[in-house]
Amino acid sequence: MIKFLDLQSLTHKYHDEIHEAVKRTVDSGWYLLGKETQQFEAHYATYIGTHHCVGCANGLDALLLMFKALLLQGRLKEGDEILVPANTFIATIHGITENGLRPIFVDARDDNGQIDEAKLSAALTPRTHALLIVHLYGQCAMNQAIEAFCEEHNLLLLEDNAQAHGCLYGTRRTGSLGTAAAHSFYPGKNLGAMGDGGAVTTDDGELAALIRQLGNYGYSEKYVCPEIGKNSRLDEIQAAILDVKLRHLDTDIEARRNIADFYRTHISNPLISLPQISEREAHVYHLFPIRTAHRNELQNYLRERGIETLIHYPTPPHKQQCYSEFHHLSLPVTERISAEVLSLPISPVMTLQEAREVVDALNAFTPTNS
Ligand SMILES: *Cc1c(COP(=O)(O)O)cnc(C)c1O
Repeated sequence: MIKFLDLQSLTHKYHDEIHEAVKRTVDSGWYLLGKETQQFEAHYATYIGTHHCVGCANGLDALLLMFKALLLQGRLKEGDEILVPANTFIATIHGITENGLRPIFVDARDDNGQIDEAKLSAALTPRTHALLIVHLYGQCAMNQAIEAFCEEHNLLLLEDNAQAHGCLYGTRRTGSLGTAAAHSFYPGKNLGAMGDGGAVTTDDGELAALIRQLGNYGYSEKYVCPEIGKNSRLDEIQAAILDVKLRHLDTDIEARRNIADFYRTHISNPLISLPQISEREAHVYHLFPIRTAHRNELQNYLRERGIETLIHYPTPPHKQQCYSEFHHLSLPVTERISAEVLSLPISPVMTLQEAREVVDALNAFTPTNS
């Protein structure tokens, strides 16, 4: 059986360090808003290349708190339009809509599934005040055209970096490219906790302080409450675990890239198309999504051979039941991707022997209905 992601093996790889970190934190008697979180936040900010990192409870909260703080700062107003890729995970959109902002879905590029910069201009209105890019699958979504577009139209550039910790745009890391970035440490992410976790990174000290306040009831200090906030904090045990895993993140990413390189070199079935990449460093391979017109049959075929795959994502946000006001939109590339995409197993603990088995199965696949 080749698992999509073997979290037990991944944890085992860093067993001693993780157990030491958890034990230290448990024995400390201090479980929230303490030095483990402070330390991880400092290390992660340095790694990403921002002045500030504010931990919170999960990636969705990171998005929600980021937008709420920008509203409180007056840099966004209720009803403002936010350009966002149509091809993304549902939480990206919730972060916008739950703050009374309006998502403007921009269709995907056919070659790599990222936001299509050629479609930005047509989506722009006088009410557009920000662009939220998503480094989907772990691939850098940023490019010079997007940079120029934000500058020309004076848009806030925001990032959903939930899938791309460690990804590079030139010499800078994703998560440091705009005004602020949301990160998730869901266990299956490249930098994953053992439970939920998230963070916002930014160079803006006022924004960081506001996000910290909003994640702690709205308190500016204990029992002093200028804003209505929520309780969304990264706990000490998760922070201690994340600090261990952060030390190994670059090694883990390199292991993912080696699997991806192997897939790229050896998958040769003409019915399967591979994701296009620019530079090797601009992809951290959170996912390795292939595309085929025979997706469901291929997934069943692989399952029968003990190979687990997942679909990211079977239904685009604008077609979800909760977003019926967007059902009329036509986003053909995104819709086609959702029908054709299939994520192959990839992880830092996957072996080349396992990748070979996946490749052999893929290359031997012939659909019955053609
Ligand atoms: C995982 C993910 C989120 C949400 O993070 P959670 O920690 O699960 O709340 C948001 N955006 C994207 C692109 C994600 O992949």
